[in-house]
Amino acid sequence: EKIDKAPNSLIVDLMNLGVMANVNQNLDQDTLELLAAEAEIKLKFKSAVSQTESQRVGPEITDKAEDLKLRPPIVTVMGHVDHGKTTLLDVIRQSRVAGSEAGGITQHIGAYQAEVNNKKITFIDTPGHEAFTAMRARGAQITDIAILVVAADDGIMPQTEEAINHAKAAGIPIIVAINKIDKANAQPERVKQELTEYGLVPEDWGGDTICVPVSALQEQNIDELLEMVILVAEMEELKANPDRLAEGIVIEAELDKGRGPVATILIKNGTLKVGDTLLAGTTCGRVRAMFNEYGENVNLAGPAAAVEVLGFNDVPDAGNFVQVLEDEKQARDIAAERQAKKRQAELQQDAKVSLEDLYKQIQEGEVKELNIIIKADVQGSIEALKASLIRLGTDEVTVNVIHTGVGAVNETDVNLASASNAIIIGFSVRPDNNALKVAEKEKVDIRTYRVIYKALEDIKDAMAGLLDPEL
Ligand code: GDP
Repeated sequence: EKIDKAPNSLIVDLMNLGVMANVNQNLDQDTLELLAAEAEIKLKFKSAVSQTESQRVGPEITDKAEDLKLRPPIVTVMGHVDHGKTTLLDVIRQSRVAGSEAGGITQHIGAYQAEVNNKKITFIDTPGHEAFTAMRARGAQITDIAILVVAADDGIMPQTEEAINHAKAAGIPIIVAINKIDKANAQPERVKQELTEYGLVPEDWGGDTICVPVSALQEQNIDELLEMVILVAEMEELKANPDRLAEGIVIEAELDKGRGPVATILIKNGTLKVGDTLLAGTTCGRVRAMFNEYGENVNLAGPAAAVEVLGFNDVPDAGNFVQVLEDEKQARDIAAERQAKKRQAELQQDAKVSLEDLYKQIQEGEVKELNIIIKADVQGSIEALKASLIRLGTDEVTVNVIHTGVGAVNETDVNLASASNAIIIGFSVRPDNNALKVAEKEKVDIRTYRVIYKALEDIKDAMAGLLDPEL
């Protein structure tokens, strides 16, 4: 309604993207973004919690206002290559962390906390918008604020632009660090000029984008930058309830030879304790030990803290939503159930329909409907073929014609067939080269015919297990 489009036309657009959807279906964020791009509509995602929602056991608990306390902001550093992202993260890690006197951060666990004026900031240790967006694609929005690093001697470059778009798509505030101001050829004003072209109007130019000129290399203005992060965080009123069972996101995970599965969890809400029962995606476990970024053993981890956790039965996936459950058996059951589902989905991925083994799949109950895409040289043939094909349906198998079109079988047809487990019939038309390539990769069955009865005969035989092996 908001974009003034009829459901049918959206369904057609989705088909063209290879997605079969009905009007009641939920779409993931990637698909929505593609759809919006097609329609030239700008989308703003309030919070990308699709995976979180689907992975959360039980309803989301809404914390009472009086239980909510301010929490540190979680920050990702983005920008073009060589503009100084790593240097900036390094200098903050080396000099602005609580344990810097005691030898500093010894371990890379995926995130660390810096401190300015006794206030904490959590930095995601992997710079760049790729990791950020990969997380978002999995439904995990962890970042509250983006620091956009722009080298003053280079200005806005392609990845700067990408980073701006990705941060905007996530709906998070951007703070610009105009870096390398120590360089003789630095032109911070030019950077500001360029920023305006992307809708980021610097404060001193009357806009609301905070720009801080810095030199990561010479440690100039780093505290000012961090203070701005705190200021923005305070304006955003980022809050969490430390007195509840923890929820978070896996930001890194691996199998350690000596220690078993190790996962870094960024706590989004609540407090994680040693001994807690955890569920993350298809795996569960009990927190055996936790370590902070200094390699220190900790017993508690509160909102916005990142901790390395030992005790998972299996390695969870980065991006997994993590939840503490009171009931260990429930966690185990849910993990097992999800594992089974995942395996099933993987099997189905491989088991694409083909006429060859259609009968077998029908017998095994894997296929209850046969989806067909018809491409033909003229509309008349499509209508004739479609009507006859649908009539082939039996009690065991219904025949659906999910898409038809005049013209050669193309890549989009194959993608659609792959996404909806369909076979393609080309009537007096052939697949083009791209279609053939994708069909081979995706294992999509394409059949071409010149006579209608031959096509019908094949489908009928295939359904009855009588199809002769393909010549
Ligand atoms: P990244 O690719 O964005 O992570 O960039 P790096 O942090 O690896 O920096 C790229 C290069 O720029 C390195 O040679 C850094 O030493 C240099 N560099 C980073 N920050 C500054 C700075 O503030 N001033 C100067 N002169 N060089 C810098």
